[in-house]
Amino acid sequence: MNAITPVTIAKAPPLIDPFARAITYLRVSVTDRCDFRCVYCMSENMTFLPKADVLSLEELDRLCSAFIERGVRKLRLTGGEPLVRRGIMTLVSSLSRHLSTGALEELTITTNGSQLAKYARELADCGVRRINISLDTLDPDKFRAVTRWGDLNKVLAGIDAALDAGIKVKINAVALKGVNEDEFPDLLAWAHGKGMDLTVIEVMPLGDVGEGRLDQYLPLSMLRAKLAGRFTLTDLDYQTGGPARYVRVAETGGRLGFITPLTHNFCESCNRVRLTCTGTLFMCLGQEDAADLRTPLRASEGNDLVNAAIDAAVLRKPRGHDFIIDRRHQRPAVARHMSVTGG
Ligand code: SAM
Ligand code: SF4
Repeated sequence: MNAITPVTIAKAPPLIDPFARAITYLRVSVTDRCDFRCVYCMSENMTFLPKADVLSLEELDRLCSAFIERGVRKLRLTGGEPLVRRGIMTLVSSLSRHLSTGALEELTITTNGSQLAKYARELADCGVRRINISLDTLDPDKFRAVTRWGDLNKVLAGIDAALDAGIKVKINAVALKGVNEDEFPDLLAWAHGKGMDLTVIEVMPLGDVGEGRLDQYLPLSMLRAKLAGRFTLTDLDYQTGGPARYVRVAETGGRLGFITPLTHNFCESCNRVRLTCTGTLFMCLGQEDAADLRTPLRASEGNDLVNAAIDAAVLRKPRGHDFIIDRRHQRPAVARHMSVTGG
């Protein structure tokens, strides 16, 4: 009788970059399209990718699953607006199998909230426990001006639907000089009153949006100083592995985060890479360098080629970004828009 030779199935090794950072977080922009045209994110007349360049939902699933096999524990779907991608719930539902097996710790999305009234329940049923919703102002006219096409009431209804479905919501607001800079006490009281965290984001110089960045840029150090005049802010140790630094607001009991890529260096703890809907992998939000994963993905049914391309890409992950906005640097630091790589 022939002895059976034990077969060891080699598990692909985890992803560690040259600075010893483990890559455990994948952000996937599932579409570059959006039903809004936020002034800091897009120009009014955007040219979107031809549909033929965009990965199918099955291909996106294959790529995400390859990353999960390599140790990615957290996956965020973003865009563009992820919930305007046709069939998006098929992808969410299919990816949720990795939550059931325990391979994935968290499946989440970042959304503008416009479609949430329709999808919140289904998202919750797929195991989505927390989502980020972007909202810069509670004033309907300002909301229309900032998003160009958005309807505040729809977004507020979406937020309520998510909360009703038992999903934890974090509100992300971009701080815009002369637009919402005086609104943060109200936004904070509203968000915390509904049990939602609020995170304020500094404008980043991504893509040409047809306006000088200095016109939009409000350093968060100034906003924080203003808020500290009205509220008692205590630094928290709470970390999400991302660029946000959190404080507790004594008066509301809620948590307030500051994302300051321009004034605070958070790169040393970076655990993430970003995949676009064309299968391009960006190792850093603030750098141009990217790797094409679509070609190896389409070249074979197995994952060997994809894994080799992912390995080579991770070895090129830079130490950090080099965003600058000042009077001499008003051009975008990187040419692509935030909607390409996802926020
Ligand atoms: N459409 C979804 C949304 O708005 O939440 C997901 C994609 S959007 C690109 C993700 C986040 O990036 C949003 O919170 C948005 O406010 C933020 N964002 C877009 N452009 C930005 C920029 N130039 N600087 C800073 N944040 C930006
Ligand atoms: Fe669309 Fe989000 Fe960009 Fe606004 S920030 S235009 S909602 S992708």
